[in-house]
Parts: sequence; C-alpha cells; structure tokens
Amino acid sequence: MTETFFLGEEDLRVLAEKVVGLLVQKQKSSAPVILLEGDLGAGKTTFTKALAEELGISKDEVHSPTFILKKLYKGKHPTFRSLVHVDAYRFTHPDEARVLRLEEDLKDSNTIVAVEWPSKMTYLQADIELTFRVEDEHTREITLYYEER
Ligand code: ATP
Ligand code: MG
Repeated sequence: MTETFFLGEEDLRVLAEKVVGLLVQKQKSSAPVILLEGDLGAGKTTFTKALAEELGISKDEVHSPTFILKKLYKGKHPTFRSLVHVDAYRFTHPDEARVLRLEEDLKDSNTIVAVEWPSKMTYLQADIELTFRVEDEHTREITLYYEER
C-alpha cells in the first residue's frame, strides 16, 4: 500500500500516529523497522521527532544522531516502550553498520527501530518505508509504503 502526503512540520504528528497505529496492528514478534529515505534536509529527523512525541518521548531529546550513529530513547507508549534512532549517513561501507549492534534491538517487539540513510547499511527488512522530498519551504511530500495484512 502506497500513500502520499503533503505535510508541514506541524502536521507530522498525524503521520506519526498513523505509522504507530499500523505497527501496533501488525503485532510483530520482533522490533518493527521504519526506513527513512530522502535527501539531506528532506525531513527524516524531523519526522523521527514527531514519532518520538507519539511514543511519549520529549521531541527536544531527539537530535540527529549523525555523530552518535545510534540512540535509544525510553518512552511511555503501551506497546512501544523504546525508540532506537539510527543515522547511517556516515557509513562508507555496509559492513560498518555492524558497530551499531542492532541485533539485540531488532529482537525486542517493544522497540521501534527508525533508520535514516538505510541505503548505506546492509539490507534491513522494512515494515514501513517513508520517502521524504522537499516540496517547498513549508511542505514535504512524504510517501508511506507498507504491506497490507
Ligand atoms: P539529514 O539527511 O541531513 O539528516 P533530514 O532528512 O533528517 O536531513 P531534517 O533535519 O529533519 O532533515 O530537516 C531539515 C529541515 O527541514 C529542518 O530545518 C526542518 O525544520 C525542515 N523540515 C522538516 N520536515 C519538514 C516539513 N514536513 N515541513 C516543512 N519543513 C520541514
Ligand atoms: Mg537527519
């Protein structure tokens, strides 16, 4: 299923709510994975902030993990108690992603794993893919892709 949205920054909570709803419905036995695609500045981190808020994490806690590569946040959502935010932008070879040690995070069905620049990593099975594109100064075109049950 592919859906396209044109959203300003203040509208992102609506999309975050939809995404979390889809993942709750899916009831996986491992961590759901959200892949965030799009150019520099397209809005991947900003969406992750909206997602964090949706999980009861203060959005001010969430920054681009560009230098840290991976960050874990604890939230208050009944299903998803943590959010792991990965930014693979700096990887030059897919094997470098091993340093992230995502295996443990990926086993936990109460954790959402959100990845910026997934193309720089070895293949991750996505539950949801979001592609961001700058429409204009105040708007992003965001394409949501997920498999229907
Ligand atoms: P990078 O690849 O460098 O990590 P990014 O995709 O994470 O970039 P952001 O840092 O989220 O991009 O956003 C870049 C800028 O775009 C920010 O100034 C942010 O305020 C603005 N922005 C993000 N999302 C939207 C939106 N939906 N509508 C309008 N502006 C937005
Ligand atoms: Mg970013």
